[in-house]
Amino acid sequence: MTMKTFKLRLYPNAKQRQQIESNFGACRFVWNELLNMQIQRHDNGGKYINEFGMNYLIKPLKKQYPWLKEADATSLLAVSHNLHLAFQKLFKEHAGYPKFKAKRFARPAYRSNAVNGNIVLIDNKHFRLPKLGQISCRAGQLPDGKVKTATVVRSRIGKYYVLVTADIEIAQWSKTSASVGIDVGIADLVITSDGTRYGTKRFDKALSRKKHYWEKRLARRRRQAEKEMAWDKHFKVAVPRQLTDFKNYMKAKMMVAKYSEKVANQRRDYLQKISAKLIRHYDVIKLEDLKTKGLMRNHNLARAIANQSWRELRLMLEYKATWYGKQVVAVSPYKTSQRCSLCGYDDGKHELDVREWTCPQCHAYHDRDINAAKNILAA
Ligand SMILES: [Zn+2]
Repeated sequence: MTMKTFKLRLYPNAKQRQQIESNFGACRFVWNELLNMQIQRHDNGGKYINEFGMNYLIKPLKKQYPWLKEADATSLLAVSHNLHLAFQKLFKEHAGYPKFKAKRFARPAYRSNAVNGNIVLIDNKHFRLPKLGQISCRAGQLPDGKVKTATVVRSRIGKYYVLVTADIEIAQWSKTSASVGIDVGIADLVITSDGTRYGTKRFDKALSRKKHYWEKRLARRRRQAEKEMAWDKHFKVAVPRQLTDFKNYMKAKMMVAKYSEKVANQRRDYLQKISAKLIRHYDVIKLEDLKTKGLMRNHNLARAIANQSWRELRLMLEYKATWYGKQVVAVSPYKTSQRCSLCGYDDGKHELDVREWTCPQCHAYHDRDINAAKNILAA
């Protein structure tokens, strides 16, 4: 059995949206209350209260603040669980002290635990969540298996999603007995040792004009807002305005975030497709351990994007390999682009613009990337 997370888009109606928002608020409130209580206790020389103890404290909190009862009860228990984890991190790893969650900065999210079939995917358009009842959704892949938790989140641009983790029996994908080496590049994102290329797609370029339009506005509106805030201060206005009070500024900020989110989603979809294809076709996938690839230190944008994509692709390959019983092997990138994959002759360093070369020893004609991928496979 393996835990797998599915992300579904939610389309709450007005009432459900209100319920979700109030649940976000309840979790934030409980977090802050419990944290405050721990701090007070500590200051008074008391001992840390563990997760179980904190769960116990939620009851009186609910009595004192009856509106907390409107939130899903399991999501409040998840708060004490998370806070406990944050304290464990502080105690064991000397991480920072847990922080209070301010409404404006906290990432809105709450996690419901599956108990007595309270979380059910009815079909790929309808989902049932505690306190929300039936809610419209869009599911790419249906979470099969036993649902464990459902985390409702709101993205920066106000879309709602639910992350469903389920304990599933993954049918191991059939073995193909095939291995592949993959090289990564800038023009082609992935080149396989059997000669398949997956091009780099600049999703950011397709949307860059629109994004740039809003980025310029964002900068200008921020300057304007700062000027006006300075006036408020200068004239000692009773309630000085804050950045969030400037509607035009907030709109521009939202639009920039919207385009960034779009680009990220498109890129992720593309990488999901490539990684799924590779995992389906090969039992063993060899790739270079890029941390050691000196080439990568560069401030060029195309390269920065490629870097980001490779990191994401590698993560996807690794977790999919675990799910489907395949293997991902990272090899040292030593001389992969200068050795002949046929006879092993070392041709010395090839500059980046050398796309093709002929081996002086065995006269094999090489495409630079495919040859490198073959060397990775052989490593
Ligand atoms: Zn050769």
